[in-house]
Order: sequence, then structure tokens, then C-alpha cells
Amino acid sequence: MAKEVLPGIFQFKVPIPNNPLGWVLPYLIPSDGGYTLVDCGWNTPEAFAALEEELRDVGATFDDIKTLLVTHVHPDHYGLAGRIKEVCDAEIVIHQRERDLIRSRYRQPEQLLERMATWLTENGVPDSEMSDLQQASMPARAFVSPVEPDSVLWGGETLDLGEYAFEVFWTPGHSPGHLCFYERKHKFVLTGDHVLPSITPNVSLHPQQMGNPLGDYLASLQRLEPLEVDQVLPAHEYEFKDLPKRVREIIHHHATRLDEMLAIVGEDGATGYDVASGIVWTTGTFDTFSFWMQRAAISETLAHLEYAVQDGRLTQTKRGGVVRFELTKNQEQ
Ligand SMILES: [Zn+2]
Ligand SMILES: [Zn+2]
Repeated sequence: MAKEVLPGIFQFKVPIPNNPLGWVLPYLIPSDGGYTLVDCGWNTPEAFAALEEELRDVGATFDDIKTLLVTHVHPDHYGLAGRIKEVCDAEIVIHQRERDLIRSRYRQPEQLLERMATWLTENGVPDSEMSDLQQASMPARAFVSPVEPDSVLWGGETLDLGEYAFEVFWTPGHSPGHLCFYERKHKFVLTGDHVLPSITPNVSLHPQQMGNPLGDYLASLQRLEPLEVDQVLPAHEYEFKDLPKRVREIIHHHATRLDEMLAIVGEDGATGYDVASGIVWTTGTFDTFSFWMQRAAISETLAHLEYAVQDGRLTQTKRGGVVRFELTKNQEQ
């Protein structure tokens, strides 16, 4: 049942089958002559039907969607974009950094798979697990109907949608071109996966997201923190009020997790794989995870280790084609 979270703005609930997240929360915003939909859901018949029913609830159809704004191109946010484009020719709008991922991730993944194999080997993944981890995200491609955006955002724009004016915040970290939309006058923000009320989004270093993603993520959290916000509208779980408190909790979570990882690196040093498989994760231990979760754990670990390399706590060396992390000497004393 569509829920009116602010005057005229509806929160939809679209199921993600067989996934612990349960659902994604798209938002429908009225604008001149129709609606803007923010995020859409996996490309499954159930999700499509749920979206159609939610639209019917508010007296709309797919034809009324003029624009589909996508916070990032993960399957649960972008999966139905191609189908929506087919049924109503909505304008598809995505951050330019996300557009760059569509081809390599969803259309022609061969080169990415090759790069992934090299990268997993470099980070200590044993040969026996390589192929399963390399292929881990291929099944998710079935849940995406890819489409190119009609226009791209960069961050810093203002989108005038009827009564509401949304400032576009580029918030890289969970995904390189993740977007949040802030409404200053009415004091609310659509946070996508960037800030969720009880879970933390995966922040990963991987072949498509190099650099310092955890550093980017924490910096983009800190940019949201000072905004005046009475209501946070995330893309999973449920809406909540206290943005600064949640930002502080998430920052604390990553600091604690990084300390745990540094302890595993310890005196002897370790590979990314050693650390990922030694951590007790919120959702269980490494050996109980699916291949997809194991790879997410490795890339999340490497985002933390890279962050510590950047701030000088760790040193990275490559020997025999494998990267090892060690505590930086002058820090140990
Ligand atoms: Zn996501
Ligand atoms: Zn998501």
C-alpha cells in the first residue's frame, strides 16, 4: 500500500525476492503533468506488478511517470529501468559515474570478469575458490533490464519538481555515482542506500571502484550531516528522523571495524582474503556466506585496508603477485 510520507510524495514498497533486504522503497513525486519516480526495483514479474499496483493505489499508471531518477545502478534500484522505459518512455536520469558501469557490468562483462580474477588472486584468494568468487555477481544480471540514461547528473544541480526543489548531492562510496536528493525548504532528504536506519551499506574496493571508496563514503556522509533535516527517506528499511545521529553511528561502525581488521593484520601482516575470512561480520562468519557475500566481504575489507594505507597506518607490499598489508613500522612503537 502506497504511503504518503510528505504532502503529495508517496513511498512505495517493492519486494526483492529471496533477499534479506526484503524490499526497496521507491518514491513517487508529483511534478508538472505527471510524476518523477526515484528508484524502481529488481526486474522480476513480482516487482513490476507491485510497482503497478502501488501506482494504481495513488490513481496513476506507468504512463504518468515522466522521469525515473536512479540513485545508483544496483539491481534493486535500477533493475526495472529498461522495462519502465519500454512501457512509458520516461526520461531516465543517473549520475554520470553510474552510467559508465552499465556497459561493463550488465551488457558485456567479459573484460570485467577477467580483471576480477586478477584482482582476487592479487588479494590472496585461493585457486580453489577463484572461479566461484569471480562469477559471484553474474546471477544478479538476470534481475537487470539495462538501459542507457537520457541525461546524467554530476551533483550540485537543483531539480524543480512541482512543490519541491531537490538539491542533488553526489555521495560516492557505496557506489561511485550514488546520489542523494535534499529538499531544503521542507527539510527532508532521499538517501538511497547511502544512509539507512539500522544497516550499513556495503562499501567496497573492487576493479570498478578503485581509489579510496571508504574515504569517499565517510566524506560524503560528513557532507550530509550538517543539513537541516526533519525526515530521512532511505531506499530500504524505513524512514527515520535523526540524520546526524545515524551518520555518527555509521562513522563509529567503520572505525570499530577497521580496528578489528588492523588487529588481524597484527605483527605478521595479512592479505585482504586473510582479513576478510578472519572477521566476525554482523551477518555471520565468512565460511557460512554465499559466494556473493564472500566477495562482498573481501571487497569491503579491502576498502577498509586501503583507507588505512592512505592514512598511513598500513603499508602495502606486493610479492609473488600477492598484496600483503602490514602495520606501518613507526606506528607500532
Ligand atoms: Zn546499493
Ligand atoms: Zn539497495
